[in-house]
Amino acid sequence: MSEILVLVEHVEGQVKKVTLELLTLARKLGTPAAVWTGAGYSPDAQARLAEYGAEKIYLADSAEVSDYVVAPKAELLAHLVTERSPIAVLVAATAEAKEIAGRLAIKIDSGVLTDVVGIEDGLVADQSIFGGGINVRSRVTKGVPIVAIRPNATPVEAAAGAGAEERVTFTVSDAAKGARIVERVKEEKGARPELTEAAIVVSGGRGVGSAEKFSIIEELADSLGAAVGASRAATDAGWYPHQFQVGQTGKTVSPQLYIAAGISGAIQHRAGMQTAKTIIAINKDPEAPIFELADYGVVGDLHQIIPQLTEEITKR
Ligand code: FAD
Repeated sequence: MSEILVLVEHVEGQVKKVTLELLTLARKLGTPAAVWTGAGYSPDAQARLAEYGAEKIYLADSAEVSDYVVAPKAELLAHLVTERSPIAVLVAATAEAKEIAGRLAIKIDSGVLTDVVGIEDGLVADQSIFGGGINVRSRVTKGVPIVAIRPNATPVEAAAGAGAEERVTFTVSDAAKGARIVERVKEEKGARPELTEAAIVVSGGRGVGSAEKFSIIEELADSLGAAVGASRAATDAGWYPHQFQVGQTGKTVSPQLYIAAGISGAIQHRAGMQTAKTIIAINKDPEAPIFELADYGVVGDLHQIIPQLTEEITKR
């Protein structure tokens, strides 16, 4: 059986969209088997995973796995690779899952591909490297391939799987229990949609000018029901929290509409937003590189343009 293990990402039991993307990809390559770690598993989670093609769901929701940082999850996957001989392991290209992937590769003596944006039969992957500047085709040539897929790179498609649950029992080593999670701090969420899952994102950069002025970005976002993002210049300056940074060292977004205000369009920023369907740039410099990428550009001062735009949208 050509099973493909998919490490599930969830927030308190809510399956994240990236997992549905991974399951969609896994279906094209073999038989998807979801691997659930941590608390919060429920009939809803089971239904969601099955809806997107999970034939099997391996459950490892014991505190032994969920109370410790990454290492037990790598041991769990290594255990499943040994027991089940899957043809590949797919994880999301998030900071945590990439660390799990690296640890797993050492344990099972295999190779890892990260920042993969597409994968086809034969497990040939397209990788986005150098901050999204170059795409390369790669394949793992040794052991069971471990592939870290970038969130928002794959359109999700539902297709029912059996969703058969199987509890996994294995012993976590003492070494893997070296770093225990003592507290989980919830990200501030507010009423806006989650950045990586939003259909519209309005992002501000250095051109916004101050933390206080970010209110105009928020007001435009709220008029559109959008999430707010920021460039690294804005988050490094302390104008907006780091969790909202878009780019190579921030979040990857792929909304229907991305509005970049006062953002020059550095390659590291593009890496996190260039797959947006429609890009609108607002910048006072007509030579700003963001205009090369934008579908629509407005040359001018964002402090004049954005409040007018918000007013017009709110009127409708
Ligand atoms: P700037 O480049 O300074 O651009 C500001 C823009 O605002 C200019 O184009 C200017 O014309 C315009 N402007 C100014 N005033 C106004 C106004 N009143 N109205 C309209 N337009 C105005 N950056 C990221 O964003 N995300 C990342 O994840 C990231 N990761 C990085 C990783 C590494 C390893 C490195 C080296 C860099 C990374 N960077 C990242 C930084 C990146 O190189 C840029 O420095 C950054 O994106 C610049 O942010 P910015 O466009 O807001 O600022």
